[in-house]
Amino acid sequence: MNFSYHERLDLIQERIQLAARRARRLPESITLIAVSKTQPPEAIAELARAGQIHFGENRVQEAKAKIPCLPGHLQWHLVGHLQKNKIRHALPLFGMIHSIDSVELGEAVDRVADEMGLTVRALIEVNVGEEGSKIGFSPDDLPALAERLFGLRRLEISGLMCVPPAVSEAEHARPFFRKLRLLRDDLEQRCRLALPDLSMGMSNDFEVAVEEGASHVRVGTALFGERVRPPGSQTEE
Ligand SMILES: *Cc1c(COP(=O)(O)O)cnc(C)c1O
Repeated sequence: MNFSYHERLDLIQERIQLAARRARRLPESITLIAVSKTQPPEAIAELARAGQIHFGENRVQEAKAKIPCLPGHLQWHLVGHLQKNKIRHALPLFGMIHSIDSVELGEAVDRVADEMGLTVRALIEVNVGEEGSKIGFSPDDLPALAERLFGLRRLEISGLMCVPPAVSEAEHARPFFRKLRLLRDDLEQRCRLALPDLSMGMSNDFEVAVEEGASHVRVGTALFGERVRPPGSQTEE
């Protein structure tokens, strides 16, 4: 069956609402981010016409090429690793950086933001599965290292983000989402800060993430269909 973007968007929003209700949460407290990496501006514009406002990209170069072609009211989230030499390009494009994955990167973003006279809303990426291949803070190091990020004046850290290990069923991702929430609760208590945001859940498991407290779900394939990657490209920057 071939659904229009409008129909797919309605369906995802409805599933988010149902999951929120199961967890006795307000559906308005959850932001759907349409992850539009590899999608052409025409597809993004069509989803925007259907009412979608928040979009996610994982590569700065690609975002820089596409964003100027699209309506100015859209809000952009960087969900992939940020290379230090791209910070200056990234800051004016993105309203939120979900992927502060090291103290060094946080400090570099703070420095560039200071030079540019900007403040940056950002999340700390946690390697919840403790996978050697993945970037992000290890849960054990998080409390000590996060304090250094909270001290950076140009960085407004509002929460945590994770990409859990690939699992065969959505339900198997639940322990990782729960872990991110508990890490957040612990940090809030320790540092006496408000960290309202939890960016977690993708096409296959966003409902479970909502049940576990997600504030932002990042959905690509379920909205746009399968991604077609140009040959030779990488999945992350
Ligand atoms: C690609 C991507 C997504 C979306 O993944 P889907 O499975 O297509 O929904 C979400 N988060 C990040 C960090 C991504 O890179």
